[in-house]
Amino acid sequence: MGSGQGEGKMASTFSTLHINRLTVKFKDRTGLPFGNRTFSVVRDINLEITANQTVCLLGESGSGKTTLAWSLLGLHPFHGGGMAFNGQPIEQPGDKVHQKLRSCSQMIFQNPAASLDPYFSLKRSITEPLIARGVTKRARAERLRELADQTGIASELLERRPSEVSGGQSQRACIARALSTRPAFLILDEPLTALDAIAQRQLVELLRKLKENYRLTYFLITHDMALARRIGTHVAVMYLGRIVETAPSEAFFANPFHPYAKALLSSALTPGVWEGPRIVLTGEAPSVRRPPAGCTFHPRCPWKMPICQKLPPVKTDMGGGHRVACHLYAKRAGEEV
Ligand code: SF4
Repeated sequence: MGSGQGEGKMASTFSTLHINRLTVKFKDRTGLPFGNRTFSVVRDINLEITANQTVCLLGESGSGKTTLAWSLLGLHPFHGGGMAFNGQPIEQPGDKVHQKLRSCSQMIFQNPAASLDPYFSLKRSITEPLIARGVTKRARAERLRELADQTGIASELLERRPSEVSGGQSQRACIARALSTRPAFLILDEPLTALDAIAQRQLVELLRKLKENYRLTYFLITHDMALARRIGTHVAVMYLGRIVETAPSEAFFANPFHPYAKALLSSALTPGVWEGPRIVLTGEAPSVRRPPAGCTFHPRCPWKMPICQKLPPVKTDMGGGHRVACHLYAKRAGEEV
C-alpha cells in the first residue's frame, strides 16, 4: 500500500467499539390522534466490536439492522444508551469522540447503482472523497491506480459510468471509494444481495483479501447465513429491534440456542448451514410500533411457554462468549425469570 503522502488527514485507528443499551426511536407519522408518539426501532443494544473482527448482524428485513448501523455513524440519532470508541465514551451523537469514530469508518450499501452518481465515471466516484479532502491530483492518480488494482477494476473501466459496467464492477468501485480514505472500520449493509452468484463469490474473496491487507474490522449486515458462516468471526442475531443471541461464529453455527436463530439457520438454502429439521415460522414479524408483551418472539415461537407472554427474557451466559435471551435457557441456568 502507498505511503499516504498527499492524501490528507489519516483516519484514526480502531481498537474497540462498545455499544451500551443503545436505543433509536422514530416518530409515529400515522396521522392518527396518537401520531406524535415515538416508538423504538432499536432497543437496548449491547454489543462489542473489536479490531480485526467480522461481526455479522443477522435478522429478517425490518428487524432494525440497518437503523442500528446508521446510528453507529450518526446517520440516525440515538435516543438512549450510548457507545464508547477506543475506550472513550460517546456522550451524544456527533460529539468529538463520535467524529473520531466516523473519521475511521466507511459504509458500503446494498445497491451499488444507487450508491454511485450515475453521471460520474467510476474514476470520479472513487476519487471523490480524496477531492473533498484536498488531496493533490498526482496523489489522487496514484491512489486510484492502487485502489483499482486492489479491488480488481480494469483500468479501461474507470472512465465508464455505473450504467456501463456490471453490478459487480459497480460494487468494486463502491469498495474502492470506501477504501480511498484508508478507513479501519467498514460497515457492509447487505453488500452482495443485489449481485449474481458469480459476482457474489468473487466479492466475498475480495472482502477477505482486503480485510487482511488493510487490517480492517467489518460490521456485516446480512440475512445470508452462508455468507456469515464463511466470513464472520462473531455473530449477533436481531429480532424486532433487539439482539437475542451473540456468539463467536464457530460456536453459533455449531449450536445456535435461540428459537429464532434456529429458524433463520434452518431457512438457509445453502447445504451444510443447518443439519436439523426445517423450522417453519408461522405469521409475519409483528410491527415495531406495537411489539408484543414479554418475549417479542412469542407469537411465532414453536417453544413458547406461559411466562414468555408476560416477561421479557434476560440474557443468559452459555459459556465461551455465547449469550442468549430466551426463557428456555434462563431456567436451565437457574436464573430468575
Ligand atoms: Fe420462545 Fe419463550 Fe424463548 Fe421467546 S423466551 S424465544 S417465546 S421460548
